[in-house]
Amino acid sequence: MEICGGQTHAIVRYGLDQLLPREIELVHGPGCPVCVTPLELIDKALAIASRPDVIFCSYGDMLRVPGTGRDLFSVKAAGGDVRVVYSPLDAVDLARLNPDKQVVFFAIGFETTAPANIMSVLQARALGLKNYSILVSHVRVPPAMNAILADPSCRVQGFLLAGHVCTVMGYHEYQPLLEKFRIPMVVTGFEPLDLARGILETIRLLESGKVEIVNAYSRAVDLEGNPQAQQVIMKVFEECDRKWRGIGVIPLSGWRLKPEYDEFNAEIRFEVEDIEAQESPMCIAGQVLQGLRKPNDCPAFGRECLPDRPLGATMVSSEGACAAYYRYGRVTIPE
Ligand code: SF4
Repeated sequence: MEICGGQTHAIVRYGLDQLLPREIELVHGPGCPVCVTPLELIDKALAIASRPDVIFCSYGDMLRVPGTGRDLFSVKAAGGDVRVVYSPLDAVDLARLNPDKQVVFFAIGFETTAPANIMSVLQARALGLKNYSILVSHVRVPPAMNAILADPSCRVQGFLLAGHVCTVMGYHEYQPLLEKFRIPMVVTGFEPLDLARGILETIRLLESGKVEIVNAYSRAVDLEGNPQAQQVIMKVFEECDRKWRGIGVIPLSGWRLKPEYDEFNAEIRFEVEDIEAQESPMCIAGQVLQGLRKPNDCPAFGRECLPDRPLGATMVSSEGACAAYYRYGRVTIPE
């Protein structure tokens, strides 16, 4: 299983999975932050972004992710002030320049984006801004791997670890999973050659019976990761249970703001903590994200669910497995 959605896209784009012997199957993991952001949180974003006093900032790929019945683009079309930014610090700048508005940044992601999102909070506090907050949906890879491996239907025999997550966190935190589940892991990059090497190292480990973590992305990753980034994360975030879209709640799989940063917590500021939502009953994205089914196993794939009319986030996100299968022509539409 490749954990990361960026790796899934590279694999499908370059047809790496089709070049492999039949005995080797790649299954696609849950490592797309847009895909796993729960529906309730999208609905909270929609509620906040619809307010006339708010400038709502997000990375572009969240704008078309469907909530219950609409998305951020439709809020924008209806007159909401929704803006695409390329860094959370751009949102802090907007807060500084618009003191009569509340500026909210949609802080989603894995370990990779956490330091930058946190820096925006620290920057807002340093500037004394009272009109900046973040809507947080941060998730962590190791608890998700634990949940996948603990499922009795799991058929994963090796992991390609996400290189960029390991750049921040290192790969020492995977050692307990290695010992618990006795399954090889390879830290892997994102270029086709990186992925080919990651797959090769995994097969070598499996054939030799070695249960180890191999670092096949040493030009970017070392065992300990980036200690400064980790310190910043621990200063502002604390671990929490987090719901993953299509999968459900995974214990201690998320980060949230510590109570001393409540003033920057958009869920508290805008009192949107209790929104509940229902997924489309046709969507099997949860099984896709756990590697149990492939996107083109879904009855809605290429029919009711298309990139411009997505039923689930894995079809709309640039890193989603369903979008990758559709974009790169894996369009065997089920009867
Ligand atoms: S094709 Fe659409 S409906 Fe089916 S699993 Fe993917 S996102 Fe969900």
